[in-house]
Amino acid sequence: VKPAPFEYLPARSLADAVSALGDRAGDARILAGGQSLVPLMCMRRVRPAALVDINGIGALDYARVHDGRVEIGALCRQRRVEEDGTLPPMLREAIRFVGHPQVRSRGTVVGSLCHADPSGELPVVLLALGGSVKAVGPRGSRDIPAVELFQAPFRTSLAPDEVAVEARLPAARGGAEAFCEFAEHEGEFALVAVAVALGFDAGGRCEEVRAAAGGVGPTPLEVRGSLADLLGAGELSDSLLRQVSARVAADVRPAGDDRASEVDRRELAGLLAARAVARAWSRRQAVAA
Ligand SMILES: Cc1cc2nc3c(=O)[nH]c(=O)nc-3n(C[C@H](O)[C@H](O)[C@H](O)COP(=O)(O)OP(=O)(O)OC[C@H]3O[C@@H](n4cnc5c(N)ncnc54)[C@H](O)[C@@H]3O)c2cc1C
Repeated sequence: VKPAPFEYLPARSLADAVSALGDRAGDARILAGGQSLVPLMCMRRVRPAALVDINGIGALDYARVHDGRVEIGALCRQRRVEEDGTLPPMLREAIRFVGHPQVRSRGTVVGSLCHADPSGELPVVLLALGGSVKAVGPRGSRDIPAVELFQAPFRTSLAPDEVAVEARLPAARGGAEAFCEFAEHEGEFALVAVAVALGFDAGGRCEEVRAAAGGVGPTPLEVRGSLADLLGAGELSDSLLRQVSARVAADVRPAGDDRASEVDRRELAGLLAARAVARAWSRRQAVAA
C-alpha cells in the first residue's frame, strides 16, 4: 500500500526544521530513519500533510560523552551506538534487541524515543537511567525528563512544533547495568523488557538502584521502588533475588492482550527483573575483581 499524498520538505538546518513544523500547524511530522513512520504511512495509519526530513542536517549526527553525560544527536543511527564501546552498556545491550541490523542501520535512537512504542526497548533504557530529551521549538529549547516524556502509547509530551535534537543519559558508571527481554522470536518487539542499573559503595554494598520495565503498561514504568530490598545488601542471595522478583511481579499493572495475558506479563516482569539484577550484579563483581 502506498502512503496518502504528502508534501516533502528537506530541512538543511535545525532552524529550517523548526520553522517548517511551525508553518504546518501540527500537520507535519519529522522524518528521521523512517523505520516506524514510513510503514505506518504505507498502512495509512498516519497521514501527515507534510514530512520534514532531517537527514540532511549533518550537525545532528553524533554520539559523545561530555561533562559526565552521554549525548546522542537526532540523526545518530542505532547501529552506531551499538558499536561504540564508550557508551552505556545498558543502552548498547538494549539496542541489539531492536529489530534486525538493517533496521538499526537506518533507525535513530531519538526517533525510537519520539515514537514511544510501549514495547520499544530504548524508552525503557531512558527511563531506567533517568535520562532526558532536549527539544527545540519556536519558543526556545527545553530538557524533557524521561518520566515526563512518555505520556501514552505512541504519544510524547513533545509539542507538534518541537524537534527532539538530543537524547541525554548519565555516562556509564562501572558497568553494573543489564537489559533483559523476552520476545517470541528474535528481532521481534519484546513482550516484556526490564532494565536495571546498580550503584555500589566502597565497601561493596548496593547503595543505588535504577530500574524500569516495558510491556507492562501504556508507557514504560519505573520500578526502582520494587527493587528497594537490594539497598544495603553486600551479597546477592537466591532468597533476595526471589524477593525482588516477587515484588516486581506484584507491583506492575499490565493489561492482557492478544500477545500475552496480564498474568504472563506480570510473571515475565518478575523473572526478567531477577535476571537483570543478577547480571548487573555479576558485571559489577567482574569489574571490581
Ligand atoms: C522490521 C522492523 C522491526 C522493528 N523492531 C523493533 C523492535 O524490536 N524494537 C523497537 O523499539 N523498535 C523496532 N522497530 C522500530 C525502529 O526501532 C525505529 O527505528 C524507531 O522506532 C524509530 O526511529 P526512526 O529514526 O526510524 O524514526 P522515524 O520512523 O523516522 O520516526 C518515528 C516517529 O518519531 C518522530 N520523530 C523522529 N525523530 C524525531 C525528532 N528528532 N523530533 C521529533 N519527532 C521525531 C517521527 O515524526 C515519527 O512520528 C522496528 C522497525 C522495523 C521496520
